[in-house]
Amino acid sequence: MEVLKFQATVNREAEYFLSLTNDEANREKVIRIISHNDTDGITSAAILIKILKRLNLQYWLTNLKVFDEQALKKLANEEWEIAFILDFGLNEKKLSELNKLNKKIFILDHHLIENEEKISDFTNIRFINSYLLGEDLSAAGVVYSFGKAIDEKNKDLAHIAIIGLIGDMKKVDKTILNDALEAGKVVVKKGINIFGASTKPLHIALSFGLPEIAGQEGEAIELVNQAGIRLKDNGKFRTLLDLNNEEMKRLCTIIATRGKNGDFIGFIYLINSNGKIYDAKELATIINACGNLGFFEEGIEACYGNLIGAEKVYNNYRKEIVSALNWFKDEKNNNKVFLEACKGKVWLINAKSNIRDTMIGVLISILSGYYRNKVLIGMAESENKIKISARASEINVKEFLDKLFQGITSECGGHERAAGGLINKGDEKIFIDRVKSLIN
Ligand code: C5P
Repeated sequence: MEVLKFQATVNREAEYFLSLTNDEANREKVIRIISHNDTDGITSAAILIKILKRLNLQYWLTNLKVFDEQALKKLANEEWEIAFILDFGLNEKKLSELNKLNKKIFILDHHLIENEEKISDFTNIRFINSYLLGEDLSAAGVVYSFGKAIDEKNKDLAHIAIIGLIGDMKKVDKTILNDALEAGKVVVKKGINIFGASTKPLHIALSFGLPEIAGQEGEAIELVNQAGIRLKDNGKFRTLLDLNNEEMKRLCTIIATRGKNGDFIGFIYLINSNGKIYDAKELATIINACGNLGFFEEGIEACYGNLIGAEKVYNNYRKEIVSALNWFKDEKNNNKVFLEACKGKVWLINAKSNIRDTMIGVLISILSGYYRNKVLIGMAESENKIKISARASEINVKEFLDKLFQGITSECGGHERAAGGLINKGDEKIFIDRVKSLIN
């Protein structure tokens, strides 16, 4: 029933958009796109750009970390008639201000929004919000569905939506996956679902990906030896993807017997980008690094399979990730940094100034891939405030964090799997005490 509601909305909005662009006056103006700067936002923008280019429409894209009052003011003063806002859940006040601009704004998103019953009052805003329509998609999945409703030939963009879905920790939607498989852009393999499957030497990917041996290459080599696997072929290091099925099975067995590492065995989505094979999870991370460091063009290009710029950006970024992971491993027993609440279901990592505010979300996201049944909260100093990042896959983490933030901050946002915000330094103790007192 709800899927029908989603599809009906997508079809209606696609038709409406086409009717607007059939008008000569609109065709001449650039279409304004404002999109989030994370993987889901960048992949959403990359899909939309292709859709618009195929309709011979011009666009102007800006990627932003947050859509705040300043962003709204800027947008209000620019010249455009049609805009797309991608991957931002906006509050009622912002929606009301956007509505008053008397232009046509499409909001393609998946975030929870306040007072959803009011959205029908905003007659200049067209919403396709998968959350409200009962579909479990990220913004890239929504933009892809919109593109497919505009023209079936946009089905060749499905693999970009998969990168966005994986970037936002969503399940890979079956319809989108089938479209990507049909287009020959994706291969699904069962194996060890860790970062670096296609690009890193096997032992490096394992030492980077499995928390119990984080950073210890020697341990990783030992693991590979135990599984009876050659590290090199013709003098060149092998990657996880070079293993045959038999070798992969042996390695999975060894890893599964080592504590919690069994969680890593699952499906790997391999993206065929211009003949080169990449793990979708890895592409999502590379694109996220580009967004985080402000290299948006490199991120968009990576979505289209051109990774030269993005890989350079990422190489610097990963050094920081490795040191953040090592820091966490070293500090996990330090009760000033790490605490467990709610019978161990909730983990709080207070990095203070040891991790950059822009990196705390990344660290928490990576850890949430390892510890999938935990609710993870990270804290890091951000000038005179504290940046909070939270991730969870078994509860709605946005609602969870909203409760912890009550009366402390309204600078927050996110969705069911990833949420974040800023609190004042003076409220650090209150926040931590609230986490400590969580029961069940
Ligand atoms: O920063 P982080 O990656 O933890 O953000 C997780 C989610 O929370 C994102 O969707 C982000 O847009 C949202 N967020 C927000 N306002 C903030 C911080 C994060 O809306 N101040």
